[in-house]
Amino acid sequence: MIQFHDFGIDIQTYTDRGKGNDDFPDVNQCPHCPSRRPLHRHGYYQRYALTAEGEYHLWIARYRCQECRKTVSVLPSFLLPYVQYTRPVIWQAVKTWLETPRRGAKTKQVGFPTKEVILFYVRRFLRNLSRLHHAAARRLSRPIIFSPKSPV
Ligand SMILES: [Zn+2]
Repeated sequence: MIQFHDFGIDIQTYTDRGKGNDDFPDVNQCPHCPSRRPLHRHGYYQRYALTAEGEYHLWIARYRCQECRKTVSVLPSFLLPYVQYTRPVIWQAVKTWLETPRRGAKTKQVGFPTKEVILFYVRRFLRNLSRLHHAAARRLSRPIIFSPKSPV
């Protein structure tokens, strides 16, 4: 299972700190079982991340529950599970794509990530729009009303 943590630092700082990052959080409750014992640090694994500035090799901390023996990985909040592009890169690409009005302009806009990758995330974003809407409304504890002219 994956949990997210906002380390409050950029990807370069996170990469530079490596395994010596003093800010790896404690995981105090197992998400797999009712145990209330803190999870033990259980090593690291390496993964890649891509931004317009380059490729990064990051260490991800892994924890293990002493009761059920299952593991939890703590991803920095700028990453998405199983995706090499960082969350800000994907969000910016999707946002730019949706804000670009004409078809011809969109084909000229393609740079990073590739057009195929952007389209994959645009479709995924649009498919999950109602779920995102409900999640945002829950966070705000009130309904969000879109008028017909609201940009999406
Ligand atoms: Zn457990």
